[in-house]
Amino acid sequence: MDKNYDQSKESDIYKRWEESGSFAPKGLGKPFTIIMPPPNANDPLHVGHAMFVSIEDILTRYHRMKGDSTLWLPGTDHAGIETQYVFEKKLVKQGKSRFDFDRDTLYKMIWDYVQENSSTTVDQMKRLGASSDWKKFKFTLDSDIVDQVTETFINLYQDGLVYRDKKLVNYCTKCGTSYSELEVNHVEETTKLYFIKYGPFVLATTRPETKFADTAVAVHPSDKRYIKYIGQEIEVDGLLGKFKLNVIADEYVDPKFGTGVVKITPFHDFNDYEVWQRHKNEIPEPKQVIGFDGKLTEIAGKYSGLKIKAARELIEKDLQTTGLLEKVNDKYVHTIGTCYRCGSVLEPLPLLQFFIKVKSLAQKALKALDSKETVVFGAGREKILRNWLTNLKDWNISRQIVWGIRIPAWYRDKQMQIRKESPGEGWIQEIDSFDTWFSSGQWPVITLKSKPGDFEKFYPTTIMETGYDILPIWVVRMMLLGIYMTGKSPFKQVYLHGLIRDEQGRKMSKSVGNVINPLEMVDKYGADAIRMALVISSTPGQDKSVGESTIRGMRNFSNKIWNAARFVKDFTGTSKDNQEFIKKINSISSNVSNLLENLKIGLAAETVYNEFWHWFCDSAIEEAKAGKINKNQILWGLKEFLKLLHPFMPFVTESIWQELGHKDLLITASWPK
Ligand SMILES: [Zn+2]
Repeated sequence: MDKNYDQSKESDIYKRWEESGSFAPKGLGKPFTIIMPPPNANDPLHVGHAMFVSIEDILTRYHRMKGDSTLWLPGTDHAGIETQYVFEKKLVKQGKSRFDFDRDTLYKMIWDYVQENSSTTVDQMKRLGASSDWKKFKFTLDSDIVDQVTETFINLYQDGLVYRDKKLVNYCTKCGTSYSELEVNHVEETTKLYFIKYGPFVLATTRPETKFADTAVAVHPSDKRYIKYIGQEIEVDGLLGKFKLNVIADEYVDPKFGTGVVKITPFHDFNDYEVWQRHKNEIPEPKQVIGFDGKLTEIAGKYSGLKIKAARELIEKDLQTTGLLEKVNDKYVHTIGTCYRCGSVLEPLPLLQFFIKVKSLAQKALKALDSKETVVFGAGREKILRNWLTNLKDWNISRQIVWGIRIPAWYRDKQMQIRKESPGEGWIQEIDSFDTWFSSGQWPVITLKSKPGDFEKFYPTTIMETGYDILPIWVVRMMLLGIYMTGKSPFKQVYLHGLIRDEQGRKMSKSVGNVINPLEMVDKYGADAIRMALVISSTPGQDKSVGESTIRGMRNFSNKIWNAARFVKDFTGTSKDNQEFIKKINSISSNVSNLLENLKIGLAAETVYNEFWHWFCDSAIEEAKAGKINKNQILWGLKEFLKLLHPFMPFVTESIWQELGHKDLLITASWPK
């Protein structure tokens, strides 16, 4: 054996594993399945990916060695809006915009761009040692996946679970698309609260620019100050002249907010929209004053064409000069929705969209949690999952982007048909695409259905392992759609890993400059080192701090294992068998197995690390030198440890296994009993 462990051999080892066919499920053992959370096909690997690769690979290798028929199915996601957003930024740099291209050309350009990058993502996962079954690799835009996603939509429609309606949606005027409620970031903002003279009232609003689209004013039904106005029509002096509105009563109005009178602008406020739904015969059809381009529409008269911020400032000035502004509170704190992609303030805007009715689906998902058909590991996050499922609103699945699966709706005159192919001459297809999460929400089902026999054998999957940050946006949707499509929850267990933070516990970010690039670390210290550094002592659902020094420490551990092996390989002591030594090794094995069975992965890593370093190296090897353990025993002990260490540090252990003269590979060795 060389004096030092040479981590540059990692790629050769990986190649041997892959060529041996060891990554495919084998045998008659009980099925163990993980469907990989598909990374964005276009993203270089970051430390969060390295975390999921490590955990999922540990579980996969452990179950494979245990003799389970183990499948870790890999794939990548087209990541609709995310990818189109990145691509459009690239276009802007070239002085172009998405509007310079027709739909098909734009789609083709993004397709080529993604293809260029997606093999990189896969290669990077391989560098980390991911032993997934690459022959079963799926991309969310593979034609059979697109067919299945389309079919699910058609089925949902036929089952009465899809409808098309003009409703208020969260719209980003910068990204040019709507979002679902789960994609909204809620942030606190300090803004101005304007008290405006409004006919016989004074009312408070943060958005004077929407007043041109007011269709009513509302008060609380038992507010004594205003009872006499309820049901009356009032005349109001406005910046564009006089107009008339009805006064309605609705419990939603908080008598303590402002003056207890609010304007109702159904197309620009979610609450007002609800009020309109309840008072349809007292309130006329709503009007839209904010356009999809973020500018005021023609109903704003002389303010039309202005962007929201500019319009608000001008309107404030004009209200002041016309004496319509009573006062301004400029320290008003409230919550607004912002775009999770670009950070712009989201506008509630009325749009014809497709929605999935989620109520009955969510109830079934809750039942699956109640009956423990699905169990969540993640520091109490099952509660959050339940909360989302309980309060979920109908899911807007239309996105105004081309990068994705086009909605199979066809229109002619005033007719609509939902079907895979055009019904015939003169029918035009919907231009919107599905929300990315509509396809990734079906991922465990559609990936397994793509090869005959897999679904029957591997569904429901064993573990869904993912970051807790996408619990609502992804795990919720997989449960809704998985149960709808198969009658069964798509996974028995959900393992949620935490975020990786820097050594001082700060979030990693480019602007702080504390981002760890996992591939740089692999080059410097080897894949084993970063895997072990990420996983050791980690707890599901809790964030973990990792710095370069942690990774360096684990590289030292690789060297420690290598050096111990060098000693053992050449050791020649011939004392009689030591029963205590055998007992101790067996008890470590059963301890590590138990921890892995119970998904205490961080603790399992810590245990095997400590036992190897502080017991095997520090004390057992010393005892061997002192003639208390013989050469066969210490060699057997080392091999048992190599097996226990293999899921965590696959490269150095395989490398030593080969040095010890094995013809077979450690990846397929049997787990210690
Ligand atoms: Zn945006």
